Amino acid sequence: MNVKRSKTNKNNRTKTDDMAEGLVVSHLGKSLAVETADGDVVLCHTRRRLGLMTVGDRVLWEPTEGNLGLIVKLLPRVSLLSRPSGNSKSRPVAANLDQVLVVFSARPRCDLLLVDQYLVNCENHSIKALLVYNKIDLDIKDQQLEFALDLYHRIGYEVLPISAKSKFGLGQFKRTLKNRTSMLAGQSGVGKSSLTNAVLPDKNLKTGTLSHSSHHGKHTTTTAKLYNLPDGGRLIDSPGVSVFGLSNISAADLAYGYREFQDYIPHCKFNDCRHLDDKGCAVVAAIDHGKIEISRYDRFRKLRSKLVTNAG
Ligand code: GDP
Ligand code: ZN
Repeated sequence: MNVKRSKTNKNNRTKTDDMAEGLVVSHLGKSLAVETADGDVVLCHTRRRLGLMTVGDRVLWEPTEGNLGLIVKLLPRVSLLSRPSGNSKSRPVAANLDQVLVVFSARPRCDLLLVDQYLVNCENHSIKALLVYNKIDLDIKDQQLEFALDLYHRIGYEVLPISAKSKFGLGQFKRTLKNRTSMLAGQSGVGKSSLTNAVLPDKNLKTGTLSHSSHHGKHTTTTAKLYNLPDGGRLIDSPGVSVFGLSNISAADLAYGYREFQDYIPHCKFNDCRHLDDKGCAVVAAIDHGKIEISRYDRFRKLRSKLVTNAG
């Protein structure tokens, strides 16, 4: 698909009439590729005062000279994932995500600390998280993993068993993606690319075509891109998982990110309870009463000690 020539002011319409809503689908250097309501893609410039924008952002834009557009307004976001970028600043990576699908497998072995870390980030950004257990065709019995999955399920996370190879569970996977904006996360080798290819057979990337036609292709490889799914819905493909790290997470965020702690945290005796060996800790009491599973709490402590190391 080619970049659409933006409409001129034929009918003496005012500038405001020319404004239209669009969706940012990729970065191309300093410009943004914006998908219009008609499904075309226009290369838009933006104004510094509007702040940094990213894939998934909804904007108002107006046509300018030479087939281009100008973004005039950033519409309110429902969610935003950022990554740290020096000087304690952060850069937005994906906006308006409805859900993150945390992909893992038995081989490579599932790193539960990493899974928890993704979930903590999602809890803190109010983004729904689901677990996708890929490669079940391998039929590997792993008691520790099965126990962990059962626990995730009990605390309210949906677990989808799937195989990109045998296609088992692919229908359910597609239904989960339908009409939502999603992102896949997970360690390398678990099958994220395979799953992406399974739902985007021809990677009908408007952004890909756009970058090609405007000779800005070299800019597109390192940033996130938004793909339209054939059955409705969108998938944001983001290289790297740094957005899900711990650098933007405080100790309090971390505890909150363990969703089964949330009901107990307000009942700790002290507001600044660390939920370690603190007096009157309601989280620790809940573990003693069998309300919180010790394995998740142990992982909370491990991640917490990493936070302290990060800070120091
Ligand atoms: P990514 O790094 O998460 O994007 O993982 P890839 O999609 O590149 O997959 C890593 C390896 O796992 C490749 O060799 C895939 O062929 C393989 N793989 C992906 N999905 C499955 C699956 O469902 N079953 C099996 N047995 N292998 C898979
Ligand atoms: Zn506490």
